[in-house]
Amino acid sequence: MNLGDGRSPARAADDVDAREAFALLGHDIRLEILLALLEDWLAAYTEPKSYAELMDAVGMEDSGKFNYHLDKLRGVYVRQVEDGYVPTASATALYRAVLAHRPTESVETDRRLSTATCPACGADPDLRYDRGFLTVDCPECSAWEGFTYPFPQTGFERHDTEQLLAAVSERVRHEVGLARTGQCPACAGPTTVDLRPEQVEDDGCVELTCESCTFVVGVDPLTALLTDDRVSAALREIGLDPLAQDWERPDSQPTVQSVDPPRLALTVAGPSGTANIILTDTLEPEEIAVE
Ligand SMILES: [Zn+2]
Ligand SMILES: [Zn+2]
Repeated sequence: MNLGDGRSPARAADDVDAREAFALLGHDIRLEILLALLEDWLAAYTEPKSYAELMDAVGMEDSGKFNYHLDKLRGVYVRQVEDGYVPTASATALYRAVLAHRPTESVETDRRLSTATCPACGADPDLRYDRGFLTVDCPECSAWEGFTYPFPQTGFERHDTEQLLAAVSERVRHEVGLARTGQCPACAGPTTVDLRPEQVEDDGCVELTCESCTFVVGVDPLTALLTDDRVSAALREIGLDPLAQDWERPDSQPTVQSVDPPRLALTVAGPSGTANIILTDTLEPEEIAVE
């Protein structure tokens, strides 16, 4: 499975807003105002800062100049409420994103995992972290593709190696599950589900794309369905753990039932049975049979 930062021409119109929003931050006074507001930010419980408090926090005495910059931020990053000023949702989301990904390049990148094994040859896999993407693959063979998934640097640094795989796995399950059911995990906008029967042999024959931001993920159908109650119940019934790492589950062998409209059949064989799942083009399990 691979997730990257996709760009499509449909998003070109949004670039104007993003450009203006980023440009607003290119001034020391505006940054000071914003950081002063974000400093004690406590979600909906945040006490607004009064005009005087804010001016004091920024260390300015010239109210004309202060006003000019505060006014620039208003609407995009700062909101005026009855008792003063609070950061907008854009300001807090941007702040959180910067903290999650850490504005630093210094991070340990290579580890050998002793808590997992390559499903093809049994070797200890390699775990690498580079530019926000976590990759697990086999140093000994090329029979196993492994996986790459974006993971915030804070998560990489704050979980020990044993916890990391479970944390990434949970993140994939939740994010992909949200995207499959029509909600972008990054921006909550609507997503498009693209089931490509002609690519069933590949790992990513399901593409989930956000119509508004850069979120895009290519996954196999079973991974996309792990948050579906009926599918996870069927997996448990045949003796498989829906929360296990995806390479610990047997291949789900998708076969094409129809190309237009796309319909796939998945067969998953577990230690205590076999699950057959019929999928529609919206990745709805139409039929689940366990035998
Ligand atoms: Zn291997
Ligand atoms: Zn989005």
